[in-house]
Amino acid sequence: MPETPQELHARAAGHLQVPPVDQWDSWPFTGEIAPKALRAPGEEIVRDGEGGVDCTACARPDGDHFWTDDAWRLLAMPPGGLPVVIVLEPRVHVDNPAMMPDHLLRDMGVMLGRVERAVLSVGNIGRVHIGRWGEGAEHLHWWFIARPAGFTQMATSFAEIWNDVLPPTPREVWDDNLARIAAAMDASATSPS
Ligand SMILES: [Zn+2]
Repeated sequence: MPETPQELHARAAGHLQVPPVDQWDSWPFTGEIAPKALRAPGEEIVRDGEGGVDCTACARPDGDHFWTDDAWRLLAMPPGGLPVVIVLEPRVHVDNPAMMPDHLLRDMGVMLGRVERAVLSVGNIGRVHIGRWGEGAEHLHWWFIARPAGFTQMATSFAEIWNDVLPPTPREVWDDNLARIAAAMDASATSPS
Protein backbone atom coordinates (compact mmCIF):
# COMPACT_ATOMS: atom_id res chain seq x y z
CA MET A 1 0.00 0.00 0.00
CA PRO A 2 1.72 3.22 -1.09
CA GLU A 3 1.75 6.23 1.19
CA THR A 4 -0.85 8.84 0.41
CA PRO A 5 0.52 12.33 -0.33
CA GLN A 6 -0.79 13.43 3.07
CA GLU A 7 0.93 10.53 4.85
CA LEU A 8 4.22 11.29 3.13
CA HIS A 9 3.95 14.96 4.08
CA ALA A 10 3.14 14.11 7.68
CA ARG A 11 6.17 11.80 7.85
CA ALA A 12 8.61 14.23 6.22
CA ALA A 13 7.61 17.79 7.11
CA GLY A 14 9.74 19.07 9.95
CA HIS A 15 12.15 16.15 9.59
CA LEU A 16 14.04 17.15 6.45
CA GLN A 17 17.73 16.36 6.30
CA VAL A 18 20.72 18.00 4.66
CA PRO A 19 22.79 15.34 2.85
CA PRO A 20 26.57 15.92 3.01
CA VAL A 21 26.60 17.74 -0.32
CA ASP A 22 29.62 19.80 0.72
CA GLN A 23 31.61 16.57 0.51
CA TRP A 24 30.32 15.68 -2.96
CA ASP A 25 32.79 16.41 -5.74
CA SER A 26 29.95 17.34 -8.11
CA TRP A 27 28.23 19.84 -5.78
CA PRO A 28 28.82 23.21 -7.48
CA PHE A 29 28.52 25.48 -4.43
CA THR A 30 30.14 26.26 -1.11
CA GLY A 31 28.58 27.50 2.06
CA GLU A 32 25.83 26.46 4.38
CA ILE A 33 22.56 25.25 2.94
CA ALA A 34 19.22 24.40 4.47
CA PRO A 35 16.24 22.57 2.99
CA LYS A 36 13.17 24.56 2.02
CA ALA A 37 9.99 23.91 3.92
CA LEU A 38 8.09 21.00 2.39
CA ARG A 39 4.81 22.32 1.01
CA ALA A 40 1.65 20.38 1.64
CA PRO A 41 0.68 18.23 -1.36
CA GLY A 42 -1.62 19.93 -3.83
CA GLU A 43 -2.77 19.87 -7.41
CA GLU A 44 -0.48 18.51 -10.13
CA ILE A 45 1.34 20.91 -12.45
CA VAL A 46 -0.66 21.96 -15.51
CA ARG A 47 1.81 21.20 -18.29
CA ASP A 48 2.11 22.78 -21.70
CA GLY A 49 0.06 20.88 -24.28
CA GLU A 50 -2.04 18.81 -21.86
CA GLY A 51 -4.20 16.45 -23.88
CA GLY A 52 -2.51 17.62 -27.06
CA VAL A 53 -4.26 21.01 -26.83
CA ASP A 54 -2.26 24.18 -27.58
CA CYS A 55 1.00 22.19 -27.56
CA THR A 56 4.04 24.38 -28.09
CA ALA A 57 6.11 21.47 -29.44
CA CYS A 58 3.46 20.41 -31.97
CA ALA A 59 3.14 24.00 -33.22
CA ARG A 60 6.88 24.64 -33.52
CA PRO A 61 7.92 24.80 -37.19
CA ASP A 62 10.68 22.57 -38.55
CA GLY A 63 12.81 25.68 -39.08
CA ASP A 64 13.16 26.08 -35.32
CA HIS A 65 14.91 22.70 -35.13
CA PHE A 66 18.49 22.02 -36.14
CA TRP A 67 17.73 18.54 -37.44
CA THR A 68 14.53 16.74 -38.49
CA ASP A 69 13.36 13.62 -40.27
CA ASP A 70 9.94 12.15 -40.98
CA ALA A 71 9.27 11.14 -37.38
CA TRP A 72 11.69 12.96 -35.05
CA ARG A 73 13.10 16.43 -34.46
CA LEU A 74 16.09 17.79 -32.53
CA LEU A 75 15.80 21.11 -30.73
CA ALA A 76 18.76 23.04 -29.33
CA MET A 77 18.65 25.06 -26.16
CA PRO A 78 20.26 28.53 -26.00
CA PRO A 79 24.01 28.16 -25.38
CA GLY A 80 24.86 27.11 -21.84
CA GLY A 81 28.16 26.31 -20.18
CA LEU A 82 28.14 22.68 -21.28
CA PRO A 83 29.08 21.89 -24.90
CA VAL A 84 25.71 20.37 -25.90
CA VAL A 85 22.21 20.48 -24.41
CA ILE A 86 19.56 19.32 -26.89
CA VAL A 87 16.09 17.77 -26.87
CA LEU A 88 14.76 14.88 -29.00
CA GLU A 89 11.02 14.93 -29.69
CA PRO A 90 8.76 12.71 -31.80
CA ARG A 91 6.57 14.51 -34.30
CA VAL A 92 3.51 12.76 -32.92
CA HIS A 93 2.10 14.06 -29.66
CA VAL A 94 2.74 11.43 -27.01
CA ASP A 95 3.27 11.98 -23.30
CA ASN A 96 5.62 9.23 -22.17
CA PRO A 97 6.93 5.77 -23.10
CA ALA A 98 4.13 4.07 -21.16
CA MET A 99 1.65 5.47 -23.66
CA MET A 100 3.55 4.69 -26.85
CA PRO A 101 2.79 1.85 -29.28
CA ASP A 102 5.48 -0.82 -29.62
CA HIS A 103 6.60 0.25 -33.09
CA LEU A 104 7.27 3.80 -31.86
CA LEU A 105 9.05 2.48 -28.77
CA ARG A 106 11.36 0.41 -31.00
CA ASP A 107 12.04 3.43 -33.19
CA MET A 108 12.71 5.52 -30.07
CA GLY A 109 15.34 3.03 -28.90
CA VAL A 110 17.18 3.39 -32.19
CA MET A 111 16.91 7.17 -31.99
CA LEU A 112 18.31 7.33 -28.45
CA GLY A 113 21.37 5.46 -29.70
CA ARG A 114 21.74 7.54 -32.85
CA VAL A 115 21.50 10.85 -30.97
CA GLU A 116 23.95 9.75 -28.27
CA ARG A 117 26.45 8.70 -30.95
CA ALA A 118 25.92 12.01 -32.74
CA VAL A 119 26.55 14.00 -29.55
CA LEU A 120 29.71 11.98 -28.86
CA SER A 121 30.87 12.74 -32.41
CA VAL A 122 31.24 16.43 -31.44
CA GLY A 123 34.47 15.47 -29.68
CA ASN A 124 35.81 16.16 -26.18
CA ILE A 125 32.59 14.80 -24.67
CA GLY A 126 33.15 12.74 -21.52
CA ARG A 127 29.62 11.46 -21.06
CA VAL A 128 26.14 12.01 -22.46
CA HIS A 129 23.36 12.16 -19.89
CA ILE A 130 19.89 11.24 -21.21
CA GLY A 131 16.84 12.30 -19.24
CA ARG A 132 13.08 12.46 -19.50
CA TRP A 133 11.18 14.44 -16.89
CA GLY A 134 8.19 15.89 -18.67
CA GLU A 135 7.23 18.18 -15.80
CA GLY A 136 6.84 21.33 -17.88
CA ALA A 137 5.41 20.02 -21.13
CA GLU A 138 3.38 16.95 -21.97
CA HIS A 139 4.92 16.41 -25.43
CA LEU A 140 7.58 13.71 -24.98
CA HIS A 141 11.06 15.23 -24.92
CA TRP A 142 14.34 13.48 -24.19
CA TRP A 143 17.19 15.62 -22.90
CA PHE A 144 20.75 14.96 -24.07
CA ILE A 145 23.19 16.75 -21.78
CA ALA A 146 26.88 16.49 -22.67
CA ARG A 147 29.45 16.56 -19.88
CA PRO A 148 32.80 17.83 -21.21
CA ALA A 149 35.72 15.38 -21.15
CA GLY A 150 38.07 15.73 -18.23
CA PHE A 151 35.61 17.54 -15.98
CA THR A 152 34.54 14.74 -13.66
CA GLN A 153 33.48 17.43 -11.17
CA MET A 154 30.46 17.93 -13.45
CA ALA A 155 29.49 14.26 -13.38
CA THR A 156 25.97 13.01 -12.62
CA SER A 157 22.76 15.00 -12.50
CA PHE A 158 24.50 18.13 -11.24
CA ALA A 159 25.74 18.63 -14.81
CA GLU A 160 22.45 20.45 -15.39
CA ILE A 161 23.31 22.93 -12.64
CA TRP A 162 26.88 23.29 -13.89
CA ASN A 163 25.39 24.24 -17.27
CA ASP A 164 24.13 27.43 -15.63
CA VAL A 165 27.12 27.93 -13.33
CA LEU A 166 29.63 27.99 -16.21
CA PRO A 167 29.59 30.99 -18.56
CA PRO A 168 27.85 30.20 -21.87
CA THR A 169 29.72 28.42 -24.65
CA PRO A 170 30.68 30.91 -27.41
CA ARG A 171 27.94 31.05 -30.05
CA GLU A 172 30.21 30.00 -32.93
CA VAL A 173 31.41 26.94 -30.98
CA TRP A 174 27.83 26.09 -30.00
CA ASP A 175 26.60 26.35 -33.58
CA ASP A 176 29.51 24.25 -34.85
CA ASN A 177 28.75 21.56 -32.24
CA LEU A 178 25.12 21.47 -33.44
CA ALA A 179 26.26 21.25 -37.06
CA ARG A 180 28.44 18.26 -36.20
CA ILE A 181 25.49 16.55 -34.54
CA ALA A 182 23.21 17.23 -37.53
CA ALA A 183 25.85 15.85 -39.90
CA ALA A 184 26.27 12.72 -37.78
CA MET A 185 22.48 12.23 -37.69
CA ASP A 186 22.30 12.46 -41.48
CA ALA A 187 25.21 10.05 -41.83
CA SER A 188 23.63 7.50 -39.49
CA ALA A 189 20.30 7.60 -41.35
CA THR A 190 21.69 5.28 -44.00
CA SER A 191 22.97 2.72 -41.50
CA PRO A 192 21.21 -0.65 -41.69
CA SER A 193 18.70 -1.05 -38.90
ZN1 LIG B 1 2.61 18.09 -28.87
